[in-house]
Amino acid sequence: MDFFLQEDQRIFQATFRKFAEREIAPLVEEAEETETFPLQIFPQMGKLGYLCPRYSEKYGGAGIDKVSEVLMREEISRVSQGIASTWSAHSHLGTFPVYHWGSEEQKQKYLVPAIRGEKIFAFGLTEPNAGSDVKAIETTARQEGNFYVLNGRKIFITNGNICDFLTLVAYTDRGRGYKGISLFLVEKGTPRFIVSRKLKKEGVRSSETAELLFEDCRIPKENRIGEEGSFYRVMETLNEGRIGVAGNCVGMAHGAYEAALRYAQERVQFGRPIAHFQAIAFKLADMAMEIDASRLLTLRAAWLMDQGKNPVKEASMAKLFASEVAVRVSREAMQIHGGYGQMREFPVGRFHRDALVYVVGEGTSEIQRQIIAKQMKI
Ligand SMILES: Cc1cc2nc3c(=O)[nH]c(=O)nc-3n(C[C@H](O)[C@H](O)[C@H](O)COP(=O)(O)OP(=O)(O)OC[C@H]3O[C@@H](n4cnc5c(N)ncnc54)[C@H](O)[C@@H]3O)c2cc1C
Repeated sequence: MDFFLQEDQRIFQATFRKFAEREIAPLVEEAEETETFPLQIFPQMGKLGYLCPRYSEKYGGAGIDKVSEVLMREEISRVSQGIASTWSAHSHLGTFPVYHWGSEEQKQKYLVPAIRGEKIFAFGLTEPNAGSDVKAIETTARQEGNFYVLNGRKIFITNGNICDFLTLVAYTDRGRGYKGISLFLVEKGTPRFIVSRKLKKEGVRSSETAELLFEDCRIPKENRIGEEGSFYRVMETLNEGRIGVAGNCVGMAHGAYEAALRYAQERVQFGRPIAHFQAIAFKLADMAMEIDASRLLTLRAAWLMDQGKNPVKEASMAKLFASEVAVRVSREAMQIHGGYGQMREFPVGRFHRDALVYVVGEGTSEIQRQIIAKQMKI
């Protein structure tokens, strides 16, 4: 067993860390305040191969392994989970089905400009009456000649209001149960594809989120991704996504821990830095231990994926543990900051608000426990 990263993985992580600190960090405060994603960062990331980096060089990707992607996610989230959230909806959720099951024409038309950062992707699954219960979606795609006619509503869609392309999950045949769920590409500007509202959120404020509406919206039949009946493809997209999100959660926890450590070493009370009080030092020790444990679970799941396995249980364990650790660690980081933890000039409150999104987003903690128990055949 080898716990060391390979040299190329270490170099990739160090290079991306510098980029995140130099190019992304200065954008965070304004983006959070205005609740607006800083669009200028995407072409910049695209040029450097930092968008959709898992995909083949043939389409402009960097062809990196899952372990490297997880390391990259840790670095971006250490700086801003809001920006990471937009990156993730684009670089994974929205584009993954096109990369894996799309036609060559779809890849050239939609994927290539997305990898360059010229176009933005979103992924539309969740609906007002269907969150954890994916099969309960009500959006339909009815075939009429050379078109599909879309009807339905999607909610909580990351990038929904800023996207150029949306990967949409809809029923083509309700009679077939979940086997009648299919995937489609919808372009911005298609008549009757409506962004009904941008949503105001507690967490990930620099990532934009919207509610979408489809009212007899006609798209060409060539915009279906793969065959009709793609439920397992949706599940595959979500499963690999969980490992990525676990990496994001490690990054948030790491960012909050670093801020708390710095503060505890500088803040003097009763004549010494508060880090020298055992109560604070033990908090920091527990935080470091939990982050390490979540990083190991995450890297194991990513490594298994790189070995060609399908680590469903390990992906859910990593996502569940890392997201709950991010909540606990950021909460303790706020406590260590005392009253300053409530002040927006310090980043720990943001880390905590953002971490709370990820015990819900991309599958709640309760659903992760269900998946793990099912995999254990309980
Ligand atoms: C900021 C943000 C961004 C998002 N981005 C996207 C996106 O880009 N695309 C997209 O499609 N979706 C997106 N989502 C949606 C997200 O994936 C869902 O919010 C999540 O899957 C939970 O669904 P829900 O909110 O409807 O909660 P519900 O499913 O209604 O759950 C409510 C509560 O009930 C619990 N619960 C539900 N069923 C069970 C059960 N069987 N057993 C035990 N407990 C249960 C849940 O764990 C939870 O605690 C986003 C959400 C957020 C908050």
